[in-house]
Amino acid sequence: MPTESQHEGEVSFRGIPVSAGVCRGKIFVLGRTRPSITQLQLTEAELTEEVNRLEKALVETRQQILEIQRKVSVGMGAQEGSIFDAHLLVLEDRTLIDEVVRMIQEQKVNAEHAFHTVAERYAATLATIEDEYLRERATDMRDVTARVLNNLLGLVEEADLRHLKEPCIIISHDLAPSNTAQLDKHNVLGFATDVGSKTSHTAIMARSLRIPAIVGLKNVSGKVASGQYALLDGLNGVLIINPSDQTLYEYGQIVLRQATLQKRLHDLLTEPAVTLDGHRVLLLANIEQAADAEQVKANGAEGVGLFRTEYLFLDREHLPGEEQQYEAYREAAAALKPMPVVIRTLDLGGDKFLAHMTMPTELNPFLGWRAIRISLQEHDIFRAQLRAILRASAEGNLKVMYPMISGLDELKQANALLEEYKAELRQEKIPFDENLEVGAMIETPSAAMVADSLAKRVKFFSIGTNDLIQYSLAVDRMNEKIAHLYEPTHPAIVRLIKLTVDAAHTHNVRVSVCGEMAGDPVLTPLLLGLGVDELSTAPSLVPPIKFLIRRLKMNEARTLAAFALECESAGEILAHCLELASAIAPGLFENK
Ligand code: PEP
Ligand code: MG
Repeated sequence: MPTESQHEGEVSFRGIPVSAGVCRGKIFVLGRTRPSITQLQLTEAELTEEVNRLEKALVETRQQILEIQRKVSVGMGAQEGSIFDAHLLVLEDRTLIDEVVRMIQEQKVNAEHAFHTVAERYAATLATIEDEYLRERATDMRDVTARVLNNLLGLVEEADLRHLKEPCIIISHDLAPSNTAQLDKHNVLGFATDVGSKTSHTAIMARSLRIPAIVGLKNVSGKVASGQYALLDGLNGVLIINPSDQTLYEYGQIVLRQATLQKRLHDLLTEPAVTLDGHRVLLLANIEQAADAEQVKANGAEGVGLFRTEYLFLDREHLPGEEQQYEAYREAAAALKPMPVVIRTLDLGGDKFLAHMTMPTELNPFLGWRAIRISLQEHDIFRAQLRAILRASAEGNLKVMYPMISGLDELKQANALLEEYKAELRQEKIPFDENLEVGAMIETPSAAMVADSLAKRVKFFSIGTNDLIQYSLAVDRMNEKIAHLYEPTHPAIVRLIKLTVDAAHTHNVRVSVCGEMAGDPVLTPLLLGLGVDELSTAPSLVPPIKFLIRRLKMNEARTLAAFALECESAGEILAHCLELASAIAPGLFENK
């Protein structure tokens, strides 16, 4: 697929669509370049005023950082807000400030030059230190320096999104959490970045803010200029600079159709996900933090089918302890009560690492020390997490599930540890839900093959198709080169899902799918036809999936599944899925 194409003055860039919606307007390119600093020679008489200018810029910078910190703490949590403590410390560092003042006075130079020189020397020293934590401080130092320099020079910080004068589309290399936190929905029509993936922070924020967005546009920020007119299609991942009248007209029609569809989806918000012939499906949402509970409710999901707890562990300086985790799980449980919230125990490893935990360098990290394998060896981590989940279970309808189970022994060991921690809590007279349900993720082919054994020891299965596909087809889910081989409708996947469902149902175990397959309406009939009971997907994808389910008959779904189980070709299965989905819910697909 070309990433850039030109057509009668229009230039199109194609990236990864991460937040649906179409917008158009002027673009604003956030620069990565720092202001250029010139050295000025001052007279003796000018020095006092120069030092005053420096002090004023420091105060101004401090106020700006405090404001960002406040916003981030309110919007994203105190932990995220505390990132900016390090920035404030730089401004309070008297050794640094005194050195700058001395340089101004002794060398009779301007404040910009003095501050830049001294701060850069500090940052450069920090950057060479072995210790990762101290190295990080170099980044803080440079961020703060850029802010102080902008204030001294009277420049609006280019990355400061509060100063947008009119609604525009933001284009940048990347968008840091501090910038994203400042997005003003009224003035940011959409955004597009050079880097990022569907699961990047930027992408996740865009979806929760419901701002159309595209990431992974390679070097788009270097190819466009502020002030150009553009159209951004967050559904298909296309950014069009100088769109022609014809393109604008076509997109105008799409926007109209989308508005109609959104209205129809909204009308179903409180309706159940039930097929035309009365088959009830439980539609759940995937979340990463307790605050996402709002999105779960806003999109009409009936609970959480996957709480990816590793996000509580990433981007932190220390492992979150039992108390911190308890707070997060309790908050989610309380916010959604009596709806179920399935907490997945830590799924570290693979592509998710911690700065503060030494992980071995592995040749095949996805086949290595990952998920439940870590938990079963690092009992302190597992214990803190399971105790936190158990304690929070007293406050709502929590369930727990283990990721990447590859055989019965792991499940037995995990369950034994869970029982041990339950016994501890009983002794300590700490309440928890004695009937807390336990589930296993089915995301390795071996788990699917022994699903009958696993089913005897759990209450539910959740099929993690993202990994199940990668492990069954031996296709790295992160490798673009072999992305064409990553086929959710591969006959092997269809059969493994069926095997899992049959084993589960024999033992009265419910089956959910929580991988990306669950959020693709094209595949919904296939999954339901194979007997899947529940689907768990990103909150914003719940309404379209429900829309499709309410137009489906189970006999159509079962016929499709029967065909897929006999079929030898992934392409043919997908074609049949597409045919059925677009016949029953054409409105969902007409803008693609
Ligand atoms: C999966 O593998 O399908 C899944 C839901 O887990 P994750 O994407 O977090 O690995
Ligand atoms: Mg997985």
